[in-house]
Amino acid sequence: MIDPGISTKKELDPILDAIKSRKLELRYIVNTHHHSDHTSGNGALKQATSAEILIHELDAPVLPEPWTWWSRMVAADPDHPCPACGMAGAYVETLKEQGKAVVGCRSCGFKFEVFASPPADRLLRDGDEVQVGMLDFRVIHTPGHSPGGICLYLEDEKLLFSGDTLFSGSIGRTDTIDGSFDTIIESVRKLLELPEDTVVFPGHLEQTTIGQEKRSLAN
Ligand SMILES: [Zn+2]
Ligand SMILES: [Zn+2]
Ligand SMILES: [Zn+2]
Repeated sequence: MIDPGISTKKELDPILDAIKSRKLELRYIVNTHHHSDHTSGNGALKQATSAEILIHELDAPVLPEPWTWWSRMVAADPDHPCPACGMAGAYVETLKEQGKAVVGCRSCGFKFEVFASPPADRLLRDGDEVQVGMLDFRVIHTPGHSPGGICLYLEDEKLLFSGDTLFSGSIGRTDTIDGSFDTIIESVRKLLELPEDTVVFPGHLEQTTIGQEKRSLAN
């Protein structure tokens, strides 16, 4: 499972049902980076399946206490702008004993929950291989959206899981406390060297190919 961003039982159950009905065993939960919309389901999935959690070593420290990162994000701008409405009033309410935090906005009422993850079972680095049955996923370190962002590359199958580094027609945001525009540009350059017919599954929205993104970014 790559990037379980799930946070409710309603989202978790169909995944567990699919694993069960296909008689599969979930071996690994791989996070392409530490953001909560990619890691919030780690704990529930691991509890249900005993899968190991894998993440790049530079993003691993955020997993067990995502509220620390969110508090630093909110504190970084003295106006505390809300990620939804842009007005002042963002806050983080940490509920450590429940293993979660509420990130919200006093101006517009927007809020969402972020869940702590169990610590990583295995730390990933550039060039590592993650073997799953017949598949050999190669880890490509693609920092910029976060310091420990990775893509997972299946060379023989010509598939790339690009996390939030490369999207169809755009790249990941870097306006976070640990993001870097210059660094993500370098990472994207590295990805564009892959074969043009590589199919790309980004962390959000529709799939694309390396060739298509090469042409779109050239414009
Ligand atoms: Zn992200
Ligand atoms: Zn994301
Ligand atoms: Zn707001």
